[in-house]
Amino acid sequence: MSYGGAYYDEPSQNRGPNLRLVAALIVAAFGFIIYMTHTEVNPVTGKKQHIGMSVDQEKALGLEAAPEMAAKMGGAIDPRRDPRAAFVARVGRKLVELSEARSSPYADNFHFYLLDDPQTVNAFALPGGQIFITEGLYDKLADEAELAGVLGHEIGHVVNRHAAEQMAKGRLGEMLTLAVGIGASGDRRGQSAAMAAAMVNQMSQLHFSRDDESEADRYGLRYMAQAGYDPSAMMDVMKVLIEASKGTRQPEILATHPNPGRRLEEIRSILGETYPSGVPDSFTRGRPLR
Ligand SMILES: [Zn+2]
Repeated sequence: MSYGGAYYDEPSQNRGPNLRLVAALIVAAFGFIIYMTHTEVNPVTGKKQHIGMSVDQEKALGLEAAPEMAAKMGGAIDPRRDPRAAFVARVGRKLVELSEARSSPYADNFHFYLLDDPQTVNAFALPGGQIFITEGLYDKLADEAELAGVLGHEIGHVVNRHAAEQMAKGRLGEMLTLAVGIGASGDRRGQSAAMAAAMVNQMSQLHFSRDDESEADRYGLRYMAQAGYDPSAMMDVMKVLIEASKGTRQPEILATHPNPGRRLEEIRSILGETYPSGVPDSFTRGRPLR
């Protein structure tokens, strides 16, 4: 995303309007019009969404921001050094490959990271498919199916393009101002670093709506089942979060997600609708994690 560094020569004259300001206003107005008129139908969910970026831009932004995001939270654990990190990647890939997520435009771009932060209880996704779980949350999970529940929920956010949608909604102005600012600075390397920094900043403040969270749970449950995991393990993930919230330090995941008790009830009712005669025992809980 570059907004015309080429338009400007040295500001040698002080006469007339401030060209940069005018350009910025034009770009901002343009962005607003695009936002209002640009309705895309999500190819996977069929939902109409206002999204200011293409799938390729989402992927690029997520990839650009991933290292910085990881570094902010203890760093990504090398899967060659730690079997837990390798397992996170394996379960994530399995969920994608064995579910309808494999036919989404993000299928080839999912990466799953274990973050070296034992104190923080959190999981999140960047746009385009970069998915993170902290050691603090991983170590509280009992088995593979619970891990699949956490990752499936994040895959649900990605496929439903929640991050891109929220960014288009709330922070469009900031993004544009930033784009103009760095576009005008003309420094390419500085540009992409600034984009990554802004992205990380935005992502760490991003709050999805309650509807987004319900949708991510619903899709996560479906991906779990399609990959053969017992979807009722997601209820146990909620119990883990409820338990963690009784400690002195509130789990970070609760700052961005609805109350786990409420989610537990909603998940229970989704499972009740999906499996009126009970969740079949043909599903697996997979490997125990501890
Ligand atoms: Zn979520």
